[in-house]
Amino acid sequence: MSQTNFHQGAERIRAIPFSPVRKVMERAKEIEQQGNKVVFFQIGEPDFATPKPIVDATVQALLAGKTHYAPNRGTPALRKAIADDIARKNGIGYDPATEILVTVGGAEAINNAIMAFINPGDEVITFAPAFMNYANVVAMAGGKTVSIPLRKENRLQIDPEETARAISPRTKMMIINNPSNPTGVVYERDVLAKLAEIAVKHDILVFSDEIYDELLYDGAACTSIATFPGMRERSILMNGFSKAYAMTGWRLAYLAAPADLLTHMLKVHQYETTCVPTFIQDGVAASMALPETVAAKARQMEAFAKRRARLLAGLAAIPGLAFTEPKGAFYVLLDVSGTGLTGEAFAARLLEEKHVALVPGVGFSPDCGEYVRISFAVSEDDIDLGLERMRDFVSTLQ
Ligand code: PLP
Repeated sequence: MSQTNFHQGAERIRAIPFSPVRKVMERAKEIEQQGNKVVFFQIGEPDFATPKPIVDATVQALLAGKTHYAPNRGTPALRKAIADDIARKNGIGYDPATEILVTVGGAEAINNAIMAFINPGDEVITFAPAFMNYANVVAMAGGKTVSIPLRKENRLQIDPEETARAISPRTKMMIINNPSNPTGVVYERDVLAKLAEIAVKHDILVFSDEIYDELLYDGAACTSIATFPGMRERSILMNGFSKAYAMTGWRLAYLAAPADLLTHMLKVHQYETTCVPTFIQDGVAASMALPETVAAKARQMEAFAKRRARLLAGLAAIPGLAFTEPKGAFYVLLDVSGTGLTGEAFAARLLEEKHVALVPGVGFSPDCGEYVRISFAVSEDDIDLGLERMRDFVSTLQ
């Protein structure tokens, strides 16, 4: 008999939890299957259809037989379209030949960057609460996450002084998610400028997850940290199509970085996924900048803005709930401590008693026990129904 017990899985993944969002989703679906109307406030994806020009162009590519391998880096046409888009949004130039890598979603992009740069024992600074992939992939790489809290008294903005104090000789990377999931906060320019100074001073690589950068409210502007002095050469910019283009199921995202940094990530990508399906790349390259696509995105944004206004007004009227107004993405981080319940108990009871699903804050950080995350990527009718049920639920607690 073998000396090893394969049933336990590798040590590397034994302590890694499944995503808390998936867990809530599974329970919510069970409740729905029992014939109940569930409000899916836990969801992390737009409910809109992908813009029609993208679907049409991709079908055309498939019919035209674009079914073979693409270059590992991505097709030249899509890399060029992505570089143009980054230049339009951020004013930073990336060479499509050597500085763009097309990936199977943001999830692959995060994995590539961490696997390409983090050695066992290296420290990675994150800001908590954070998208759970960061800490879990860092753990898989044998690295250590050093998590800096985002405090409500600081409007969930990053505290640069606290960040500077957390730097050690082992700090290799800082991960910034702007706008943030799960807080919806857009980081202010002066905060980013100070973080950039810290990164340059201590020679730290910055991974900038900007997947929500086009979902902005109340005139908010999202600045890429890669635009600050000394930052282009130490930044890995990540963005993708899941959120702004309502394309979660297509699995399409990208990394942009100086050529020498990109090469390391290309190696991970080559052995992990090889390439994104060719017909998807051709379809998106031909259609992402068309006026009809841009107009479809703008309509989605209008709908998000209306939903957000409705949700925030409703939440503000429920006693015991507090929040920092989100300026980006489609999430609200709700402080439920005023109800006397922890975020976990609040989420569990609301799901079982009122059939409203949301994610407890501990899913994003062990220090976020007082929070739950609500997503407003659902219809206005569902927002109204969810609010009514939450109001009823909270009133039973008093
Ligand atoms: N980054 C953040 C902050 C996210 O919230 C998500 C998805 O929820 C992703 C990356 C991954 O997106 P995808 O893999 O769908 O492109």
